[in-house]
Amino acid sequence: MIVYKFGGTSVGMPERMHKVSELITADDKTKIVVLSAISGTTNTLVEIGELLLDRKQEEAKFKVKNLKKHYDEFTAGLYSTAEGKRRGSEVVDIYFKEINTLTDIPDFNQGNNKTLLAYGEILSTNLFHHYLTEAGLKNMLLPALNYMSIDENGEPEIEKISTKLKNIIETSEKVPLYITQGYICRNHEGKTDNLQRGGSDYTASIVGAAINADEVQIWTDIDGMHNNDPRIVKNTFPISELTFDEAAELAYFGAKILHPSSILPAQKYGIPVRLKSTMDHAAPGTVISNVSGDIDIKAIAAKDGITAIKIKSTRMLLAHGFLRRLFEVFEKYKTSIDMITTSEVAVSVTIDQPRYLDQIVEELEHFGIVEVDKNQTIICLVGSMVAAKKGVLVRIFDAMADIPVRMVSYGGSKNNISLLVDTQYKEKALISLNDSVFEKQVV
Ligand code: ADP
Ligand code: ASP
Ligand code: MG
Repeated sequence: MIVYKFGGTSVGMPERMHKVSELITADDKTKIVVLSAISGTTNTLVEIGELLLDRKQEEAKFKVKNLKKHYDEFTAGLYSTAEGKRRGSEVVDIYFKEINTLTDIPDFNQGNNKTLLAYGEILSTNLFHHYLTEAGLKNMLLPALNYMSIDENGEPEIEKISTKLKNIIETSEKVPLYITQGYICRNHEGKTDNLQRGGSDYTASIVGAAINADEVQIWTDIDGMHNNDPRIVKNTFPISELTFDEAAELAYFGAKILHPSSILPAQKYGIPVRLKSTMDHAAPGTVISNVSGDIDIKAIAAKDGITAIKIKSTRMLLAHGFLRRLFEVFEKYKTSIDMITTSEVAVSVTIDQPRYLDQIVEELEHFGIVEVDKNQTIICLVGSMVAAKKGVLVRIFDAMADIPVRMVSYGGSKNNISLLVDTQYKEKALISLNDSVFEKQVV
């Protein structure tokens, strides 16, 4: 079986949904098709949820009304038969009635909000399911809330998911196309939850791992993982091959094309992931597997919202156990560290979750002087930078000649060099690195 995932833009208009149906029926292999919400929907649901949490019910209801209008128009364009239109309108009416019920809850809480956010994927998959049926294509809906679950740490329960999903598929009628929701799941309390923004990629990879798929294909609006952020840098190009490690680093460090955790399940279960474009389906895209190419720097990504913390302590000199005590503070506040550099008298680390920053700083002050820099960006260069390769750092430092660099991390893994800069220099750094790092390479 193959898992196909289509993102919001790929299902964002009736014609695009028609195109998706063509793509998934191009061969007769059995597929599980994971869909995101229609583009813009999750953002709107987030806004509605925030209004409800702020007790601004009238404004929330107004937004719901507009969203429903959008779905009525979408439905009118999606189906061609009276029966199709009837079924589509029924789906929209049923789920918008449920959404409206949520807007009436006077003490609307975070749990209600998670329920609200799930309607984007519930709507897109139900509409698509009826569209396929109208087109005479045998298919079945697999409601994600019946099998997709996370534990109390937010981690997917792959073994449980696998058992449930296989059981559902084995005990139901055999069809060539199974349609399921990305992003949504149940949490350890059995309540509706989600895999964080962009989580449909994660769903695809988890489903791929759970059913031991031959391949996971992530279809989006760009022809693969590019060598740099195409939203910032001109003339970026797709990379044909990446290893799981390289792709995981790029996703984690800001390449929006993939959810930060989405590679891990596929990697653990050895399932290749292919990134493809719905806008240009003949383009080869990117294959992510265990195969490594010989290119030193393959791609650059940038992750914003980073906080750097420096702890200066003369007591650290030759003191064993110092780092352990330091890390225990971060562990206590469940805050993970991305970058770390040390000297004899100081340690600098970065975190991307500043929720417990004040408490962390207060405890670190027992060890020495603490300095905090907010609004930092990690620029991550990914590739195969084995120590034997010469000249890699020269190219990077050349590019950064006019940009203040707060931290450098090199040698932690052979496929990552990270630089920390103030976010105001991010754009300049990405463009400058692009010019000097990739110009001599042939991909
Ligand atoms: P989807 O809705 O299909 O999940 P996303 O918007 O989440 O799509 O991801 C695709 C977008 O990721 C692209 O349109 C592109 O602007 C952005 N992107 C950021 N970095 C990269 C990169 N390195 N390679 C490709 N796309 C990237
Ligand atoms: N619809 C969700 C979001 O917009 C999940 C996804 O698109 O992957 O974040
Ligand atoms: Mg996405």
